[in-house]
Amino acid sequence: MDWEKYESTALDSFADAGTREELTTAHTAALGRKSELKTALREVRDRRTGMTLNAIRVRLEEAFTAREGELERADLDERLSDDAFDVTVPGDEIPVGQLHPTTQVRRLIEDTFLGLGYEIRYDREVETVEYNFDKLAFEPTHPSRSPRATFFLDDDTVLRTETSPSQIHSMEGKPPPIYMVSIGRCYRRDAIDATHYPIFHQFEGLAVDRGLTLADLKGTLLHVMRALFGEDRRVRFRTHFFPFTEPSMEPDVSCGVCGGEGCRTCRYSGWLEMGGSGMVDSRVFQNVGLDPEQWSGFAFGVGIERVTQLRHGMAEIRPLWSPDLRALRQF
Ligand SMILES: [Zn+2]
Repeated sequence: MDWEKYESTALDSFADAGTREELTTAHTAALGRKSELKTALREVRDRRTGMTLNAIRVRLEEAFTAREGELERADLDERLSDDAFDVTVPGDEIPVGQLHPTTQVRRLIEDTFLGLGYEIRYDREVETVEYNFDKLAFEPTHPSRSPRATFFLDDDTVLRTETSPSQIHSMEGKPPPIYMVSIGRCYRRDAIDATHYPIFHQFEGLAVDRGLTLADLKGTLLHVMRALFGEDRRVRFRTHFFPFTEPSMEPDVSCGVCGGEGCRTCRYSGWLEMGGSGMVDSRVFQNVGLDPEQWSGFAFGVGIERVTQLRHGMAEIRPLWSPDLRALRQF
């Protein structure tokens, strides 16, 4: 047996091994239990040959260990370079979300009324005709009762056309005094245009107590409008008609674009229409079992999209219902 050749062949096989698996195979062949070297070492009887073979074994084991170390370092280098993190590369921009403009206004409204000690309600959107119309003293012939104006689910059930049913729910729910604001979605069969959409958000305030007057309504609306639009705003009332209030008034807030001088936004009137309001009609009190001689109250309803539109000077409400983030990011 040419042990010099055996050694050099084994060393070459270690050096040629490109992976740890190949190195293990080469090790088994040269130094494994069944290798020629190990077999010869087991069978050797003469001391000199034994020392020679053992020296070869030691050199080969050293060469194997050295090569094993090289391959481990190469492995590590490769993994490190794969995971390399270049701190000088500019990062990807992480998009930061924001609240929808309608939600921003809703939260501002909630904060304002909480500050006034009002309870906040979120009532059902599917409502009975009884609560949406009858108990709010809508006349049987009122145009809102038409299926052309209102979404009927069946003869007795509608998608609420305003948040006003909350007035009935709150008055039936507990005895006065009541100070509540109801916030949520309402539905009407409106054609879509710059200022109309079949779904909209409304907030509806109701106060029932002893001795409430129009002055309380006006003071409350003034406070709320200033919270929504700025401390310099003024409020005025125009008489109107709503089934569930008497007297009924439409509140206007002074135009913030022109300061009341008159401009395109306010159609040169200096005032912006904000919704409906009035003193709770005695028939509504009777419908919920309250004595109108004892109790008085005021109510108001304002469109949240309208508020959002005016706060941001939006000509259109349609972007508020658009899933296009480019439109919404402007606010
Ligand atoms: Zn104006």
